[in-house]
Amino acid sequence: MIPVYIGLGSNLSQPEQQIQKACESLAAIPGSELIKCSSLFQSRPMGPQDQPNYVNAVALLNTRLAPDSLLQHTQSIENNQGRVRKANRWGPRTLDLDILLFGHMQLDSPHLTIPHSGLQQREFVLYPLYDIAPNLVLPSGEKLSDLVDACPLNGLQKMTNLLV
Ligand code: ATP
Ligand code: MG
Ligand code: MG
Repeated sequence: MIPVYIGLGSNLSQPEQQIQKACESLAAIPGSELIKCSSLFQSRPMGPQDQPNYVNAVALLNTRLAPDSLLQHTQSIENNQGRVRKANRWGPRTLDLDILLFGHMQLDSPHLTIPHSGLQQREFVLYPLYDIAPNLVLPSGEKLSDLVDACPLNGLQKMTNLLV
């Protein structure tokens, strides 16, 4: 089993419930086991500002699946929860599931970049990740705690305690 961290985000149609439901769906992915889900955090939108605030979390899954196969499952979960992709990047969405880390794998294929390209700069990824994995070291050798220390909160607020 390989430990995989997945970033969750939602800002449409009752975001807290969307994240809760997505965690339940992550737990049902075959060949995988949901180990932890972080607290919920509220964040300001990235990119277009004319959209609601986001609710974010990070989940830890252990999986036997290959990365491509896991991506197919996470994209089905997004679609089942009404994700619509528009031409504008970073627009509002019911659910975004990004594969942040897949063990120590580093991958750059047309459909999958691991670690996720936004991991190092995004407060709404780093702080929830730190919530469940404070001692994590990235494949680059960087300590997560150092990235968190260097990342401004940008209005990020913790909303709840751990879900799982
Ligand atoms: P961002 O990736 O900057 O957070 P986004 O999450 O809004 O933006 P999406 O529309 O969800 O972007 O995904 C666009 C494409 O990103 C997907 O079709 C997928 O193939 C690709 N992708 C590349 N790397 C990853 C990854 N690590 N996790 C999820 N999707 C990825
Ligand atoms: Mg994303
Ligand atoms: Mg995405």
